[in-house]
Amino acid sequence: MLYNPSKEINSELIKPIHGVTTRFDGSFQSRESIVNYLSHRIPNIDTHAIFGIHQIHSSDVHVLRATDKPDYIDSLDVDGLILKKGNALSSIYVKVADCIPLILWDAETFTCAVVHSGWKGTYENISRRTIETMVKLGSKPASIYAFIGPYIHDCCYQVDDVRARLFKSSYIRSVDGRLYLSIGTVVEDQLIYLGVPKKNIDHSPLCTSCDARFFSYWRENTHTHGTMVAYIAV
Ligand SMILES: [Zn+2]
Repeated sequence: MLYNPSKEINSELIKPIHGVTTRFDGSFQSRESIVNYLSHRIPNIDTHAIFGIHQIHSSDVHVLRATDKPDYIDSLDVDGLILKKGNALSSIYVKVADCIPLILWDAETFTCAVVHSGWKGTYENISRRTIETMVKLGSKPASIYAFIGPYIHDCCYQVDDVRARLFKSSYIRSVDGRLYLSIGTVVEDQLIYLGVPKKNIDHSPLCTSCDARFFSYWRENTHTHGTMVAYIAV
C-alpha cells in the first residue's frame, strides 16, 4: 500500500523526518500496521529499527540501547522513548488519540525522544523525566526543539473537580460550572521551566476532538476510536 501524499502534521522546527498522522493516514492499532506505514514514510529504514512501547499512562521513559530488539521494547511499560543517534537509521514512535504527542529533538547531538503525555503523565511531569535523561546523555536544554502535536485542547477537555485540583488554577477554564484543562499549556510550561527556549517549542493549535481530521477517544465511541502515531527518525 502506498501512503502518498501523507496528511501528517509536521513541525518546521524539527529537521529530521517526523510526523503525527491523521485519520487519512489510517488507524494504527498493531505494530505491523505502524511498521508498514513508517517503512514507506522513512526511506531506507530497516523494519527492525522501528521501536514502539507498551504505553500505560506513566511518567517512565526508556533510553534505547544498541542491543534492544523491537519485541522487547514493545513490551516495556513506559510512556517515553529516547533515541541517541547511532550509525544506523532508527525510528521511535508513540500512539495517541487525544493525549499529547510530544516529539523532542536536540539539534546538537541529534538525540531525540517521543513521549505520550496524558493527564497522568503530564501531572507526573514525564517531560522532566525525558529532558533530564537527555541532559544525562549530553544534551543541553537550549538546543532541544519540541513539537507538542495535536491533542485535546481546553475547548473540549472537560475534567472533574478531582482532576482539576491536581493542576494550577491558571490551567483550568471554567464555563457554566464545567471545568476544562489546558493540558498542552502545562507541558509547554514544564519544558520552558526545564530550560527549553520558548522559541524552540512548536505548540500545535489543533484540537483532536474539534478537528475531524483526527481520531478522538473523547469524541468517538471508546470501542471504535482510531489511533494515530507520532514518530521521529534519526
Ligand atoms: Zn476542541
